[in-house]
Amino acid sequence: MLPPGKTLGILGGGQLGRMLGQAAQSLGYRVHVFEPAARCPAGAVANREVNAPYEDLAALTDFARSCDVVTYEFENIPSAPLAAIAPLVPLHPTAAVLHICQNRQREKAWLRANQFPHVRYAEALDGEIAPAVAAVGLPCVVKTADFGYDGKGQMKLATAADLEKASAIFRGRRCVVERWVEFTAEVSVVVARSAAGETRAFPVAENIHTHHILDFSLVPARIAPPVAAAAETLAAAIADRLGLVGLLAVELFVAADGEILVNELAPRPHNSGHWSLEGCETSQFEQHVRAVCGLPLGGVAVREPSVMVNILGDAWRWRDGAVAGEPAWTEVLREPRTKLHLYGKAEPRPGRKMGHFTVRDTTVGAALARAQALKARL
Ligand code: AMP
Repeated sequence: MLPPGKTLGILGGGQLGRMLGQAAQSLGYRVHVFEPAARCPAGAVANREVNAPYEDLAALTDFARSCDVVTYEFENIPSAPLAAIAPLVPLHPTAAVLHICQNRQREKAWLRANQFPHVRYAEALDGEIAPAVAAVGLPCVVKTADFGYDGKGQMKLATAADLEKASAIFRGRRCVVERWVEFTAEVSVVVARSAAGETRAFPVAENIHTHHILDFSLVPARIAPPVAAAAETLAAAIADRLGLVGLLAVELFVAADGEILVNELAPRPHNSGHWSLEGCETSQFEQHVRAVCGLPLGGVAVREPSVMVNILGDAWRWRDGAVAGEPAWTEVLREPRTKLHLYGKAEPRPGRKMGHFTVRDTTVGAALARAQALKARL
C-alpha cells in the first residue's frame, strides 16, 4: 500500500487527469503531471507539471523518479517511453494492458482469443479493406486501428459506392472492419480492480451519443436488470483476465434480444463515469486512486439517479468563427441537485470537451428531462 503523502504521477494532462489529480489530493497524495502541451487542465491543479514530448526519455525518466506510482489518463502514449519508465516506478495499469487497449486490432484479437462477446470484425492489415468488408458484409464500419476516438478515423459503409470511397480514404492504413450493429442501447461499465484481484463494477451507464461524441450518460441505465447484471459481470471478467490494476471502462452495445457485445476497452477513468462524482458513493477518480495506490476499493452504490451532460465548445456563442459569448452558466448553477464542472481549458473549440454537468433526481427519467431542458438553455 502506498500511503497518503506519496506522489502519484499522471501521464496526460486533460480533464481526466485533472479530476484524477483532485481526487488524489483529497486523499492526501501529491500529484505530478506529465503533458506535452503547456498550461493543461491537470497541470493547473497539480503539485508539479512537466511539459515535454513523450519521446523525451530524459524528461520522462526524471518525472518517473519523482513519483511513487505512475498512471495515465490518455491511451495514445507510445509504448517505448512506457517501457523506459517501467523499471523505475510501478505503472498501473501496466504497459502491456495499454498496448492491447490502444490499438483496435490488438484489442479485438484479444477479445476474440479470450472468448469475450464482441462485434463481428475482420482485419485489413495491408490497407486493402475490400476483402475485410466482403468477410463481414454490408452495412459495416471501417475504423483505423490506431489513434481513433470519438468517432474520428471511422466511416460507415452501406453500399458498393461507399466501399469505393472508403478504399481510397483508408488505403495503406491499418484498419478493422466491423459489422454494423443495430443496437437498442449503448452502455458502459467502469470497473475497478485492485492488486489483490478484487473487482468492483460501477453500475451500468446508458450512453447517448451525438455526432459520435458522448452527449448524455444515464444511471441507472434503462435496460433490463439481468442485462445490466450481465454487463457488470462481463466487465469484471475482462478486468480480471487483463490482470489490470486500476480502472477499466468497457463500452458495450445492447441488442434487441438483450445480447451484449463489447465495442471498446479503455484502461482509465472514462467520460461515461463522470456521474459518479456526485451520483455514487465513491467517484471513479477516487476509485482509480485507491486501486493504483493499493488502498481498499470504495463502495459503488448509487446515491441518486443521475444524468451527466457533456459541455462542448459548441455551447459557446459563435460569430464568424470567433467566440462571441459564454454559455449561460447561471442556468445550471441555479438548478437544485445539479453540479457544474468546468475543466479550465483556455480556448473553446467546436467538438472540444470543456466541462460537464450532472443532474440528480428521484428517477433517471426526471433527471434526463431536466438535463435536456438545461442543456437547451445553456
Ligand atoms: P467508437 O469510437 O468505436 O466508440 O465508435 C463511436 C460510435 O460509433 C459508437 O459509440 C457507436 O455509436 C457508433 N458505432 C461504432 N461501431 C459501431 C458498430 N459496429 N455498429 C453500430 N454503431 C457503431
